Amino acid sequence: MQTSYRILVVQLFQETHGFSPVHTPLTSFEIEQGVEMIEKNEKADSVLGGLIRELAALGHVVVPAFAARARCGGKVQDAAYAFIKERILAAARSSRYDAIALDLHGCTQSESLDSVEEDLLSSIREITGYRIPLVAGFDLHAHATEKLFRLLNFGTAYKTNPHADAAQTGERLAQVLDSMLLRQVKPQGFHVLLPMLLGGNDETTSGPLATLHQTMQTAIASNGNLLDYSIFNVNPFIDGAHVGQAVVVYAKNEDGAVAAKALSLTAAAQFWDCRNQFTHQLPCVKDLLQNFSGTQPRLIIGDFGDRVLAGAPGDSIYVLSECLQYSERHITAIVTDPAAYEQCLRAKEGSTVSLSIGGKNTPGLSAMDVAGKITRLGNGVFRNRGAFMKGAQLRLGPFAVIEQARYTLLVTQDAVMSQDPGCYLDAGISLDDTDVIIVKSGYHFRMAFEDYGDCYIVETPGLSGFHPEQLPFEKCRPIYPLDSIELPFLESVYLQ
Ligand SMILES: [Zn+2]
Repeated sequence: MQTSYRILVVQLFQETHGFSPVHTPLTSFEIEQGVEMIEKNEKADSVLGGLIRELAALGHVVVPAFAARARCGGKVQDAAYAFIKERILAAARSSRYDAIALDLHGCTQSESLDSVEEDLLSSIREITGYRIPLVAGFDLHAHATEKLFRLLNFGTAYKTNPHADAAQTGERLAQVLDSMLLRQVKPQGFHVLLPMLLGGNDETTSGPLATLHQTMQTAIASNGNLLDYSIFNVNPFIDGAHVGQAVVVYAKNEDGAVAAKALSLTAAAQFWDCRNQFTHQLPCVKDLLQNFSGTQPRLIIGDFGDRVLAGAPGDSIYVLSECLQYSERHITAIVTDPAAYEQCLRAKEGSTVSLSIGGKNTPGLSAMDVAGKITRLGNGVFRNRGAFMKGAQLRLGPFAVIEQARYTLLVTQDAVMSQDPGCYLDAGISLDDTDVIIVKSGYHFRMAFEDYGDCYIVETPGLSGFHPEQLPFEKCRPIYPLDSIELPFLESVYLQ
């Protein structure tokens, strides 16, 4: 009996902010293929990393196709997606394999497509037909449509937000695929779509999602015929058909189908019933700083409205200017401004500059004047120190460091994921003597900065605050909370 199979592995990972004016070019992607794809990802804390390790441990042969990863940002440029798709399909045409496993974010849009993943999986199916298993692991913020899941034999999402289980998701995907190839498991999936967007309180460690995940885990563990569940909380900054929350439950085979369908409906009803609990009240910067004296530990402030981790442009100086107004203490901040970076480059390291900085991409924001000495110019990557993507290298790109008595500014040419102290440290900025650190993250920075001080998120203007009424949603309407919706019944769709 055959016990070892050849598995073609693919990665396409970018979370899109569909309303950002700054689109994502090919140069924003880290790209690998062939042996390099294995070498660069086999230790990674990602679905792809977990897949590679677990498939190898189970005795299968990992066949690398193509990997493309970019940070969250605006829609992927059409030419960039065309390039990536062409490479993936070429590998699907020319390689020898028994199954395909993909690491997909699941919420990638291009300038022309509201779901890049639907297009990619459809195109792969045109090559393979339905004769081979096609499975995928997703971020739980995926745009998980019924159509997308019908293209898969099995799909599964992270179960934690902030995301601490990407690698385990890859391992689970490998194990399910192994059981499909070797033990006649034939996943029977059921999908329920809920027309709603979440507006906060959506972490999985507490609140309504913690309860919902607990319900699902208990149900899966208590029925040997059930295989897996996912609760998708779609990124609330994309428009498109069937944008909403999705519950997906799989049985191992036909014996568990009735239970899987029932569980998907129970979970969806529970989810819908607590829809008004998904809101949060954040303090404003002024209130946070009101009692911030010299005796308090350092503050790490997440700029909720300009989260690069949610695809916002990262060009807001709102928190910095508020801190300068309401506190006397030293601030370290990051801001994306290609024009200001160019000015620093022309002025050269060691010189003193006066610049108008920030507020150039996000609608409604203004710039501020800053002055200081350029202490460093550089270009490169940084290493994540904290638990989220620990050890991974992320793009810093071209940058300048401006210092003066009140603040240290990291000015970057491109938006940078600043959820980790590594982005400052590897730009040569010491965090030892600063009192306030500003980051463009809302959740994940807590996993890396807790040793540096007290972490807070604040209400700020920008493209990544939870204010759906301020964004031009059209295709996903009607949707809660923008429209009043009566749900007469929930529909659970069989995926095969
Ligand atoms: Zn996510």
